[in-house]
Amino acid sequence: MEKDGVFVHVNDSIRKLASAGPVTQTWEFICECPELTCHTLVTLTLSEFDDLRAASPPVPVLATEHGAR
Ligand SMILES: [Zn+2]
Repeated sequence: MEKDGVFVHVNDSIRKLASAGPVTQTWEFICECPELTCHTLVTLTLSEFDDLRAASPPVPVLATEHGAR
């Protein structure tokens, strides 16, 4: 199974669900590192998540121990 893209899709779905709330609210997203067994939760505010997605090229959501800057 290819992990790549799956958790990106999950995170985008979380973001969509979360859009009713304030952008300062934190939500738990899933680490998008290439490690298949990684299901680390990454806590981000919606605005932090949007910044990652809006970056060019887009920055993956990563747990601190998996390469987040
Ligand atoms: Zn990870």
